[in-house]
Amino acid sequence: MKSMNFLLFVLLGILLLSCNEATISNENELQKEAGKKEAEYSYPMLTVLGTIQDAGSPQIGCTKDCCKDLLENPDPDRMVVSLGVVDTDGQYYIFEATPDYTRQNDLLRDMGNNQEIKTPSGIFLTYAHIGHYTGLMYLGKEAMDAGKVPVYAMPRMSEFLQNNGPWSLLSERNNIAINTLNENESVRFSNVKVTPILVPHRDELSETVGYRIEGPNKSALFIPDIDKWDKWGEDIIKEVAKVDYAFLDATFFSGEEINNRDISQIPHPFVIESMELFKHLDASEKSKIHFIHFNHTNPIINPKSKEAKQVLEAGFNIAKVYDIFAL
Ligand SMILES: [Zn+2]
Ligand SMILES: [Zn+2]
Repeated sequence: MKSMNFLLFVLLGILLLSCNEATISNENELQKEAGKKEAEYSYPMLTVLGTIQDAGSPQIGCTKDCCKDLLENPDPDRMVVSLGVVDTDGQYYIFEATPDYTRQNDLLRDMGNNQEIKTPSGIFLTYAHIGHYTGLMYLGKEAMDAGKVPVYAMPRMSEFLQNNGPWSLLSERNNIAINTLNENESVRFSNVKVTPILVPHRDELSETVGYRIEGPNKSALFIPDIDKWDKWGEDIIKEVAKVDYAFLDATFFSGEEINNRDISQIPHPFVIESMELFKHLDASEKSKIHFIHFNHTNPIINPKSKEAKQVLEAGFNIAKVYDIFAL
């Protein structure tokens, strides 16, 4: 009996030791991973924080194949369109304040080199449709009760935020500090420069802008919403030529995917139209283009779809959350 107890004791000891070793090696792995992550980033850098159209994916009320499984099995990468930038000094900037702002802020902070900084040093808004500014609510009294987070917006957008509740409470309480932008006038930070560019869109409550984001080495164009390329006074091909990466409106793949709405009332450049427009560009120009802002119906959200393969085979990119670009 005694020897039996001894055997059990030895077995238990071995078991405990091996558990302990497993924990230690896991911790080492985690540390290694964290070290690798830090080494991988060189600042300033830009990352994709969300790729989906304003209403998200799944979209409310959608029972079609695009959304039905996602209600039961949500895909954590399906966040509403947003880009993030981390500058050399640890300050970070977010483009758009989406309904997924809480997670996006956290993701970007994790990629930064200064964990003490908890809010962005700038939130740049494109316009007043629900996916692009309602995340500001998380800065208010019911949520973070933030202090003077700088929000950059065009004149009508700034007025809209200051004159309409609940957004006006954010300024009154100094949760946010609104900085009014002017078209084509840049805002400069340590090593990053941001310039708003007006684009034609359904401007019910505000004007609509895209942004040019420039670092010391590379630059990006971000136009998540525009009516059609030919309605714009600028030539998108020339604008793409000026930058290294272009994140462009890809709300709908084609007119086919929307059958219950009048698509002429929600104009966007279809992906097939953009691919046609850009088809004569050489491979390096095409590779700058990263399609973004996907409606829940857009088949290219699924990387395995034949449409996604068609886009990639044609030499274009499909933006993904966590994609990282040096600036
Ligand atoms: Zn949008
Ligand atoms: Zn759907």
